[in-house]
Amino acid sequence: MVGSHKVKKVASDAVAFLEVLDTAGVVADLSNQVIDQSSKAKDIGLVEYDKVISPELQELMTQARVTRQSVSAELYFVKNNRSPKLYISARATLLSEELVILLVEDRTEAKRLDETRRDFVENISHELKTPISAISLLSEALQVALDDPAQVKKFAANLQRESKRLGALVTKIIQLSRIQAGDLKGEIAVFDLGHVIDEAVELNQFLADSKGVRIAADTPSGIMVDGDSELISMALKNLIENAVLYSEANSNVGIGLSVVDGFAEVAVIDKGIGIPVEHQERIFERFYRVDPSRSRDTGGTGLGLSIVKHAANNHGGEVTLFSKPNLGSTFTFKIPIHQDHQSEDDK
Ligand code: ADP
Repeated sequence: MVGSHKVKKVASDAVAFLEVLDTAGVVADLSNQVIDQSSKAKDIGLVEYDKVISPELQELMTQARVTRQSVSAELYFVKNNRSPKLYISARATLLSEELVILLVEDRTEAKRLDETRRDFVENISHELKTPISAISLLSEALQVALDDPAQVKKFAANLQRESKRLGALVTKIIQLSRIQAGDLKGEIAVFDLGHVIDEAVELNQFLADSKGVRIAADTPSGIMVDGDSELISMALKNLIENAVLYSEANSNVGIGLSVVDGFAEVAVIDKGIGIPVEHQERIFERFYRVDPSRSRDTGGTGLGLSIVKHAANNHGGEVTLFSKPNLGSTFTFKIPIHQDHQSEDDK
C-alpha cells in the first residue's frame, strides 16, 4: 500500500513537471496501465480506459521497460475516425523500477511544412528543367546553323524568349518563397489602393497594347489600406496580366474598386477563355495550370495566382473567383481597409 502510494506520488510529480514544460506525457505501470497524464496528453486524447490508445505507443513503452533504455519513434496517431490524423514523435523511458514515462510531441504542422517545402523544391527543379534544356538545345542548333543567317535569327529570338521565361520564373520563385516565409521586405504603411491599382495597370499597358486588349479601370482614390504596397502591387499586376493574357484580341478588361463591409475589393474582370469549374479551386496552387501548353505559350509560370493568394492572406484578406468557360473570369481581391478610415465611414 505504501509502495503504491509512493508510485503514485512519483507519477504525479513527473506529470506536474510535464505541466510546467507544457508537454504531452503519460506515466504508466508495469502492465502499461496509465497512472497519470498531463493536460496536453488529454488534449491529444492519448489515453482511453487507462491505456494508451495506440498499439505502437504501448509497444514503445514495453520496449523501454524490457531494454531499460530510452526508445523513440515517429508515427501517425489517430484517436478515432472523427479526429484528425496526427504525426507524432514519441519517446519512452523508465522513470523508476515500476514506472515508465511516455513523452509525445505533436509534429503534424512541422511535417506538413517539411513536405510543402520538399514539394516546392521538386516542382521548382521540374519547372526550371524545361527552359534550361530548351536553351541548351537552341544554343547547339545555333552553332550548327552559323552559315544560315535566317536560321540564326530565328534561334537567337527563341533563345531570348526562353531566357526571358527562365528569368521570369526565377523572379516569381524568389517572390513566392519570400512571401511564404512571411519575409515581407517592403514597408508596412497606409497607402491609397487606387493609386497602386493604377500602377499595376500601367505595368501591363504594353502587354495589353501589343495584344489589342483595352484596360478600363475605375479606381477612385482615397480608399486607404494597411500593408506592403509593393506586394499588393505585384499581386494586382499578376491578376491584370492574367486577365489580358487569357483574353482574345480586341476585348476589354475591366477593373473596379469599392468598399464592402470594411474590405476594399478590387475586381479584375475579363471576357476571356474562362476557367472550368473543376479547376477553379486548384488554380491558386503553385505551378497549377489549367492547360499547361497554352500557359507555356503565354509565358506562364503557374505561380502568379499563388502569389496573389498569399499576398491577400498575409494582409488578412482573400481572393475569390467567379468564372465561366468562354464567358470570362472575375477575380476579386479583398483586404481590410485602414481602421481610421473605417471609423470615419461609420460616422
Ligand atoms: P500562369 O503563369 O500559368 O498564368 P497563374 O498562377 O497566374 O499561372 O494562373 C494559373 C492558371 O490559372 C493559368 O495557367 C490559367 O490556366 C488559369 N488562369 C489564371 N487567370 C486566368 C484568367 N483570367 N482566365 C482564364 N484562366 C486563367
